[in-house]
Formats: sequence, C-alpha cells, structure tokens
Amino acid sequence: MARYTGSSCRMCRRENVKLYLKGDRCYSDKCAFERRAYAPGQHGQNRFRKMSDYAIQLREKQKVKQMYGMLEGQFRRYFERADRAKGVTGENLLIMLERRLDNALYRLGFASSRTQARQLVRHNHFIVNGKKVNIPSFQVAPGDIIKLKEKSSKNALITDNIEGAVRRGIPSWLELDQNNMQGTVKALPNREEITLPIQEQLIVELYSK
Ligand code: SF4
Repeated sequence: MARYTGSSCRMCRRENVKLYLKGDRCYSDKCAFERRAYAPGQHGQNRFRKMSDYAIQLREKQKVKQMYGMLEGQFRRYFERADRAKGVTGENLLIMLERRLDNALYRLGFASSRTQARQLVRHNHFIVNGKKVNIPSFQVAPGDIIKLKEKSSKNALITDNIEGAVRRGIPSWLELDQNNMQGTVKALPNREEITLPIQEQLIVELYSK
C-alpha cells in the first residue's frame, strides 16, 4: 500500500485526535484540529452516526499507524511479532513502536515530529553505540547511546528542536545529555509511560478476527 501523501492535519481531524504530525505547529494556535475539531469534508460537522465495533477497532488501528507513520504491512508485522512475544500483545505492540529509533529521537527532542526524525535518521545524522544506523525502525535497547554526529552538531534545525522539546517533556525511560547532544536509553518503556490516547486492545481485537 502506498504511503499517504495528503494533508497530515486532515488525518487528525478524521481520527478526532491530535496526532502531532507537524512538529511545532501542533503546539501552536495554527493547529487545524484546534481550529476545526470535526471531521473533514462537506458533511464533517454532521457526522454523528453510530459506529460499528469493527469501525471503532479499525479507526483505532489507523490512528496508531498514522501516529507512528507506518504502512499497513509494517504495522501488521509488528503486531505479529508482538503476538508471538511473551506478555500482553497490545502492550508489546506499543512498546515495540516506542522503541523505534525515529520515535526515540522524537521523544528525546532531536526532531519535532516522527516524520522529521525518520528523515534525519535516513540522512545519517546519528550514530548508535558509536556505529552508523540509518534505519528508522531500528529497535533501541536499554544501555544504547544515541548520539548526534559531530559534523551535524551545528545543524540549526536539530538544536532548535532540542530547545522546543522541553515543552513536550522527555519520558523517564530516556535521558538527554544536551551538552554532548546524545541520549541514553535507560530502560524499556512501560505502558504507563506511553501517555498517548490509545486503546491497544481494540487493535488486538481487530487483528484477531
Ligand atoms: Fe494534527 Fe494539529 Fe499537528 Fe495538524 S497541527 S498534524 S491537526 S496536531
């Protein structure tokens, strides 16, 4: 399935939740969801129809997929791995999503959105444990050190992002060392630390049909 290339804000309005896809704009009064918190389209304001269980589950899956910027096939594979792993499938899925390198960089504040983080990783701006990693889906593990490359340390976009990250807060499973422009993965994220409005059980129900 091709990647969605339309308006990001439209997705937020469609899912009726802020997905934080556009960096600083999402925290400003320019946010489209703040201005028009109803579904897009001609009849968006009149959409009060009751949704079926299937539609509710589908929308939850779409929402999470869009939050983390994933395609259907990738997302399905994450689910299958989460299902095979020990523990609660829904929680496993969310933890795997949080452990993506692009997400960790976003959470640490090096990028203003996961989309931007993905691009920075692909453009080789970071090293993990001293080694080049340009795969956004790379799973970070406790003890990993993610560092901005020396030659990228003057990248104004990244340094500005770090300043703005204070607003979002850095989760306790990560630690930022701003002086050395590096982040450490202190532990695996746990469910309580993932404060996004997600009902992962609905996704499990959808894929278990
Ligand atoms: Fe969503 Fe608002 Fe960000 Fe647009 S600006 S992507 S509506 S949170």
